[in-house]
Amino acid sequence: MEYDPESIETIIRRTILDVLQPYLSPRRKALSADTKTQHRDLVLLAYKGFCPCCHRNQVINEDGSLLPSASFDHFSGNRSDSRPHQTWLICTNCNGRLYREPGFREDCDLHFRSYQNLRRQAIMQPELEYDSCYRL
Ligand SMILES: [Zn+2]
Repeated sequence: MEYDPESIETIIRRTILDVLQPYLSPRRKALSADTKTQHRDLVLLAYKGFCPCCHRNQVINEDGSLLPSASFDHFSGNRSDSRPHQTWLICTNCNGRLYREPGFREDCDLHFRSYQNLRRQAIMQPELEYDSCYRL
């Protein structure tokens, strides 16, 4: 039986990557459809469709559809934890800055906490009037 050295090398590379991957970086876990809907509804109602981080960029259309500028962020940086209280819906610009710009994540901490407070209120009081919500 003849061995194809190239395919053996490919198999070895793949096996090593499979073994090491969990230690290199946590696997990114996609947000569930329910979580995405929860974030979309909150941003649409409480932030009038604008990014809850910068309040400048629109991320959701009036009809509720996500714009290309929308991005789901894992605020804690742990991409394997995609539960609603660890994530939010922001603009791609803010999402990029959170990962690139030193100190920006700390600057946004209050915005994230405010967002999560509104999310919890919305869960407890679905009839809540968002017009009374404050914007930073
Ligand atoms: Zn933004």
